[in-house]
Amino acid sequence: MKKKIIMLIIFVLIPLFVILEYKDSSFSSKKINLEIKNMEDEKEDSRLTDYKVVIDAGHGGEDVGATGASGQYEKNFTLSVAKKVSKLLEQNPHIQVYMTRSDDSFISQESRHRPIYANDLNADLFLSIHANTFTDSSVSGTETFYYHPYSLKFAEIMQKNLVQATGFKDRGVKKDDLFVIKDTTMPAVLLEIGYLTNPQDESQMWTEDFQDCVATAIVDGIKEYSR
Ligand SMILES: [Zn+2]
Repeated sequence: MKKKIIMLIIFVLIPLFVILEYKDSSFSSKKINLEIKNMEDEKEDSRLTDYKVVIDAGHGGEDVGATGASGQYEKNFTLSVAKKVSKLLEQNPHIQVYMTRSDDSFISQESRHRPIYANDLNADLFLSIHANTFTDSSVSGTETFYYHPYSLKFAEIMQKNLVQATGFKDRGVKKDDLFVIKDTTMPAVLLEIGYLTNPQDESQMWTEDFQDCVATAIVDGIKEYSR
């Protein structure tokens, strides 16, 4: 009888105990994994939904900016590209996009509205869109300006994407004391997409295809930087 009880313990109760213990531990480790996954999802969501991007269309109203070789104004080019960028960014539910102007409004430099607007929003990124001008109409190229060291990486990514899209000469990333990128407290860049004073470049720059391509490159750059 005693032998039977020992056999029962060895062959039935011990294996049964081991099986139950294993099941329980695998269930709880699954539960822990699920909880960690939920926490990561929440973290990811809040990081992305809170991502605020300010798009600044250069100039506006009586401030026409550069006058192109054809007589068209920079303020219209910057607004057109800014609207395209904004439209593309809005397709991403995780990004909130804000524009410093969405029509031909005049924004005075003295008001410092552009950087103040971005700072008050506590924005994550600030992009000012411009086109260049020079007395020598043969000058061509794309360049990106930054001021603070914390904007350099963003500037490098934007310049790389932008040059690919424009196909213009790569004039590089430059540091300059421009108030929109100096007074902003988040990574901020000023994009000089191309020279409106260069007739060949200008004729391309007013086309929908060119502007769509530039807008896509800007959005790709924002995504690349924010990853
Ligand atoms: Zn400008």
